[in-house]
Amino acid sequence: MDINKIRQDFPILNQQIYGHPLVYLDNAATTQKPQCVLDSIIRFYTTYNSNIHRGVHYLSEKATEIYEQARQKVMQFINAKSRTEIVFTKGSTEAINTLAFSFGQAYITPGDEIIISEMEHHSNIVPWQLMAGRRGAKINVLPFDNNGELVEGALERLINERTKIVCVTYVSNTLGTVNDIEKIIKTAHAHNIPVLVDAAQAIQHIKIDVQKLDCDFLALSGHKIYAETGIGVLYGKEKYLEEMPPYQGGGDMIKNVSFELTTWADLPLKFEAGTSNFVGAGSLLTALEYVDTIGLDNIAAHEKQLLEYATEKVDQIGGITVYGRAKNKVSVLSFNIEGAHNYDVGMILDKLGIAVRTGQHCTEPIMKHFGIPGTVRASFAMYNTFEEIDKLAAGIERAKKMLVC
Ligand code: PLP
Repeated sequence: MDINKIRQDFPILNQQIYGHPLVYLDNAATTQKPQCVLDSIIRFYTTYNSNIHRGVHYLSEKATEIYEQARQKVMQFINAKSRTEIVFTKGSTEAINTLAFSFGQAYITPGDEIIISEMEHHSNIVPWQLMAGRRGAKINVLPFDNNGELVEGALERLINERTKIVCVTYVSNTLGTVNDIEKIIKTAHAHNIPVLVDAAQAIQHIKIDVQKLDCDFLALSGHKIYAETGIGVLYGKEKYLEEMPPYQGGGDMIKNVSFELTTWADLPLKFEAGTSNFVGAGSLLTALEYVDTIGLDNIAAHEKQLLEYATEKVDQIGGITVYGRAKNKVSVLSFNIEGAHNYDVGMILDKLGIAVRTGQHCTEPIMKHFGIPGTVRASFAMYNTFEEIDKLAAGIERAKKMLVC
């Protein structure tokens, strides 16, 4: 992998912030876009722009063709069985809200239980709380230990005859933990319980094969894998998508509408009400093709080296607490300088041109677990370099000198 060549594909990286070259280490929040993705957006608007699925004219057919090609590409990328299992949403959050609503309507009755983990992003907590409130269900929480690993055997202990679904993140956006999702799925399936995998932080780092994993649902966001914002995917096994009612009503999701009886469009359109983000879908197609040309395995190997190097560097500084020491981790390093507030550290790094995230990272329960207000989070992508990690380490040392007496 030629990192210098890859960096040239991302125009935003080539700039100075406060007189320093930008070091972008906020990739878990959103990734930067390669030129080919930016070009695909301009090309769409300058060549094909027209609403999909509804027109017989050339532009509409062309736009529809690209939208459906994007669906086909996602299907191949995660190895789904059929294009009918790929529902476009605006992101992982909307994918999980769609599932929580529709699954709840179809399968949850008062007294039923849902299992989520303690390390979930708020978007895999709150939609289930909303649904539980509507349907009279209860949420049980799968705990993690101080290394940031889900507690062995806890899932077995939480499952009972009222458990209806298990919802777990593949990779924690705060701890970097890669959960043993295969084992979780096997355990849940042994009790005939379906599993949602939140792949928002996995899709860009780990090759996902939904048939091999045998997960029942999976959520992902395009902007985390170098595509535009506002496009994401809910994957669902066809049997569930067929049985579940739609989440939203409107155009495109219906077969026939009358005041007496309205019927739903075939999958996947039943879950795609209104004008979809077809330009975003086109950008996702280009982004996934781009990732394929570089190779997810190559990207993962590079990011693993970056994470190991960064962890070593931060440990060498001393007086730094790292949150998340799981054996299997990717791309995320969360830490605090002992005696300093995460915001102050983030501000000092920012003035050095280093973009990291600070705060709770939409995971308040993780902060509660460790009894802290937040962390500084550096997260890596294919275009990050070892020199950038050196700059991060130097920035942390400087912040420590300034903030800790
Ligand atoms: N799940 C995880 C693990 C995440 O990290 C995020 C975003 O950071 C989400 C879900 C929500 O993604 P989005 O905001 O793109 O819908």
